[in-house]
Amino acid sequence: MYLIEAYKFCPKCGGALEKKSHNLLQCLQCSYEFWVNPSPSASVIIENDQNEVLLVKRAVPPHQGAWDIPGGFMEPGESFIQAAKREIREELEVEIEITHLLGAYPDLYSYKGANNPCLSLIAAAKITSGELKVADDVSGYRYFAKSKVLELQIAFTGVRAALREYISHEKTAF
Ligand SMILES: [Zn+2]
Repeated sequence: MYLIEAYKFCPKCGGALEKKSHNLLQCLQCSYEFWVNPSPSASVIIENDQNEVLLVKRAVPPHQGAWDIPGGFMEPGESFIQAAKREIREELEVEIEITHLLGAYPDLYSYKGANNPCLSLIAAAKITSGELKVADDVSGYRYFAKSKVLELQIAFTGVRAALREYISHEKTAF
């Protein structure tokens, strides 16, 4: 079920919501318009000195146990760089530097039966300080040879598209 189908009541007054379009709900009581638009996330692809790619194992749903790249949802007021640095610090306790933005990939984040539209902003980055350590939301991490990455169960289709582009140097999904 898409998120827009899951929402029944106005977040402002509690009145019933009516679906006006594929991304707009309107309250029948107070006329409040509630837009269901994508939530941006900030994630990074990190390589080590052997040209291997860092992946993390997801500790929580959705896609618990699948491989993912480190990152997470942006918070209000954050820039991409601030969000990416915060997420990687929270998950792996290392500091990073963004080298360049790879792209913005539409995706769905399934949570408790509702598919949330999201937009994965993904950059290439390098670790500048700290020792990798499993801290939050992940149960493990590992560097993989580029030839092995796409054989793995990758958590999100957008992340898989970004990894495919990164490894093949071909833009197809951006
Ligand atoms: Zn209302």
